[in-house]
Amino acid sequence: MFPASFDYHRAGSLGEAVELLRQNSGAKILAGGHSLIPMMKLRLAQPGTLVDIGRLDELKGVERHGDRLRIGALTTHHQVATSTVVREHCAVLAESAGEIADPQVRNLGTVGGNIAHADPASDLPAVFVALGATIHLTGPHGDRQVEAREFFLDLLTTDVRPGELLTRVEVPVLQPGTGSAYLKLEHPASGYAVVGAAAVMTLDGSGKCRAAALGFNGVAATPVHAAAVAAALVGREPDDAAIEDAVSRHLSVADPLGDSFASGEYRLHLARTYGKRALVAARNRTRR
Ligand SMILES: Cc1cc2nc3c(=O)[nH]c(=O)nc-3n(C[C@H](O)[C@H](O)[C@H](O)COP(=O)(O)OP(=O)(O)OC[C@H]3O[C@@H](n4cnc5c(N)ncnc54)[C@H](O)[C@@H]3O)c2cc1C
Repeated sequence: MFPASFDYHRAGSLGEAVELLRQNSGAKILAGGHSLIPMMKLRLAQPGTLVDIGRLDELKGVERHGDRLRIGALTTHHQVATSTVVREHCAVLAESAGEIADPQVRNLGTVGGNIAHADPASDLPAVFVALGATIHLTGPHGDRQVEAREFFLDLLTTDVRPGELLTRVEVPVLQPGTGSAYLKLEHPASGYAVVGAAAVMTLDGSGKCRAAALGFNGVAATPVHAAAVAAALVGREPDDAAIEDAVSRHLSVADPLGDSFASGEYRLHLARTYGKRALVAARNRTRR
């Protein structure tokens, strides 16, 4: 399958990328190409112009700034999964990036492309929602930031405005006494998540839950932030019974996604199962 014809520009700087997007209305950004090119080959996307940002080194890599990690939009999944600073300070992010597809996809697919594409089955959106990440964008009207919990608007739809591009994602450094985990049921053919769950939990000195967060992908059109489940655990000893109780009583998804592979009811069942498992794994990792 061949894509429809298009013009191609390679940006040499961030400023040039913004200018190229301004000059070419409807242009699409090309990062790793692992979602956009298949969409173009299937003619589900037919952009007249591609702006290739793949060589913008300023958008690549991970750095620690105080109590935040800055992950450049062009950082590949492999770089995130193997980054010493991510593994040490935000293990759930490294774990989820390492679960994406296969080495070929992980070596070319980028963090920015993954979340800008906003496939409900993608792994990183659930993790960024659970972590309370901040997404940084730049465009013709300057820089702005959006909370990950507000960023995903609908299936394949985000708050990236025309002419904007994503520059980085910031996540908090996980504090001592915190455990985290990402677990998913993979589609047997594609490796994409049918449902994935990302959990973070912090215990206080007496073993009670001081803070928790839980995010899901695959259950609905946008990632689910299960705030009520997390709130139900705070102040309690998070033993298996408390986790079971919090998830069973407080996980609700307004409009679960259903398709020929997994019905909405089944995805909800998986969310309960994987949500509990992820919280248990996060709790157990606080005690290592
Ligand atoms: C076989 C296969 C299996 C996969 N399995 C998984 C999986 O299990 N889990 C998973 O999470 N993902 C999976 N993916 C997706 C992959 O991980 C990539 O993250 C994804 O393709 C997007 O990253 P990219 O850099 O390739 O983006 P591209 O394909 O280049 O772009 C994707 C979209 O994002 C836009 N975009 C890209 N960068 C930016 C930016 N900086 N600012 C604004 N918009 C931008 C593009 O315009 C386009 O609309 C799979 C892909 C393939 C081909």
